[in-house]
Amino acid sequence: MKLDILAIGVHPDDVELGCSGVLINEILRGKTAGIVDLTEGELGTRGTVETRYAESAKAAKIIGVQVRENLKMRDGFFRNDEEHKLKLIRVIRKFRPEVVIGNILDDRHPDHGRAGHLIADACFLSGLMKIETNDDQGNPQEKWRPKFVLHYMQDWYHEPDLLIDISDVFEQRMESVKAYTTQFHVSSSGDEGPQTYISTPDFLDSIIARARMLGKRIGVRYAEGFITEKKIGISNLDALLLRET
Ligand SMILES: [Zn+2]
Repeated sequence: MKLDILAIGVHPDDVELGCSGVLINEILRGKTAGIVDLTEGELGTRGTVETRYAESAKAAKIIGVQVRENLKMRDGFFRNDEEHKLKLIRVIRKFRPEVVIGNILDDRHPDHGRAGHLIADACFLSGLMKIETNDDQGNPQEKWRPKFVLHYMQDWYHEPDLLIDISDVFEQRMESVKAYTTQFHVSSSGDEGPQTYISTPDFLDSIIARARMLGKRIGVRYAEGFITEKKIGISNLDALLLRET
């Protein structure tokens, strides 16, 4: 199955927090998109692997992606090495996305930065013919290099290279985040386990505040921010949001 966009997150919920607005937007515009989670998030303090699968399936439905896969790398301990790069290259060649949106390159959680570099490296290497991989049926895969790799912002603030208006789909974006009922402050029942950095009402407030702040920079209500190592090219000035800022 060929996808226009492949979003990759090391933990189930990274994609929802980082770029679900853009995914929803693009899917509404008729693009095809999928999500690949690198780990099952088994080290998360709250919830279990089973609850996380149920939550990520619910979130995928809200976003509207065509496919969601889990590569079952080890939460906390996966490496950016040959074995893990090949695993990811196989997925990139399977879905042949034009754009990959993945973890940030440097963040509070060391998994995020390591995954960001793993994703960027695998996207490049996937375009090299002499790296041979096989699909699930054992057939040789063709090389494929996504044209663009964007990294979504996570905990730490990074000055974005690209800001995308997500105002029209913001409610749906927050619904996809709240699908992770064990991870975030969704109800006040307090029976989901110990409080963590991300389970307080403050954390969800900070997600909304970040989107508002980024939106303000481009004259819209909500935006998501991305960094990219390549220069962004546009075909004509119609791609510019013409707002007073
Ligand atoms: Zn994460």
